[in-house]
Amino acid sequence: MKTPMFYHKDYGNYGFGSFHPFDPKRFAKFVDIIHSDEVMNDAIDILKSPAATDEQLLLVHSKRYLKHVEDAEKNGTRLSPDTPMKQGISEAARRIVGGSLDAAKLMDDHKIALNMGGLHHAGRDFGEGFCVYNDVAVAAEYLKQRGKRVCILDTDAHQGNGTQDIFWTSSKVLFISIHQHPSTLYPGKGYVKEIGECDGEGFTINIPMPRDSNIADYHHSFQEIIRPVISQFDPDVLIRNGGSDPHHSDSLTDLALDMRGLEYLGRTSRQIASENGAGYIDLMVSGYGLRVVEGWQAILKGVLDLPIKLPSDQTIGKTSDGPRKSLVKEISELKKYIEPFWKV
Ligand SMILES: [Zn+2]
Repeated sequence: MKTPMFYHKDYGNYGFGSFHPFDPKRFAKFVDIIHSDEVMNDAIDILKSPAATDEQLLLVHSKRYLKHVEDAEKNGTRLSPDTPMKQGISEAARRIVGGSLDAAKLMDDHKIALNMGGLHHAGRDFGEGFCVYNDVAVAAEYLKQRGKRVCILDTDAHQGNGTQDIFWTSSKVLFISIHQHPSTLYPGKGYVKEIGECDGEGFTINIPMPRDSNIADYHHSFQEIIRPVISQFDPDVLIRNGGSDPHHSDSLTDLALDMRGLEYLGRTSRQIASENGAGYIDLMVSGYGLRVVEGWQAILKGVLDLPIKLPSDQTIGKTSDGPRKSLVKEISELKKYIEPFWKV
């Protein structure tokens, strides 16, 4: 059976102006790539995303925030300095949320669904970092309200501050973010000491990666933290989000994964879901620079276990090289914070 992937032509209106690093042509380009690649075309079924309703957005956002977005779009103002509101963008954001939500609705029948989503910087009452509404959180909250245990694994280079904000006090959604160290990158959140509060204490986990981290460093973090914690949490559904921005060519970040590293992220995340008998949702909207859709392709081929031809830059970092010392230190620091909650 083909894997469903949600899309709508209105995704192409999710842009912030011609000088903004988020290029909305990415969506249509990726659909073209899927159609022109025989292996991917045979594996993926593209389905139309509906627009999320107010009621669905209110699963995670406040009424006040919905009104704020509407006003900002009407007046052409900004949600934050990096997120100007153009006409049509809220409708495009609703389509993206609708796609992730429809992916979540398939979790009873299908074991996997995809969407070009992952707007993880939008919180309950705020939008920033090119994110208007948080589709990751809407999908997770929908599943949570149906009694499912949900793990969100955020592998975007930027920490998922909006998702963290929404599930900060929840023990039903495990939020793990692996990202470039917050002292060197927006949003400046996601230090090891940020572990959630109240019922949610221990259910937010942040793995800050040093600049130039490569596949060996990511592998270390997966083996030491991500794999063991997810298997103890035993999710019904694993949602991975994050696009190509951990790639060394990315124009906004300083990590050093190559295409093989991105393939590793997709492949390993899917494997973890399968090992734990969990459904799997993959959301890959992010990435900046010239190699965004190539990066998405690498991630997706990993997720779907498809053969991948790798370009000639595959020499950066082998898992056998072992992790760098600064990361090993950071991971042992993180363990001190989460040891009361998890065997790590
Ligand atoms: Zn990012």
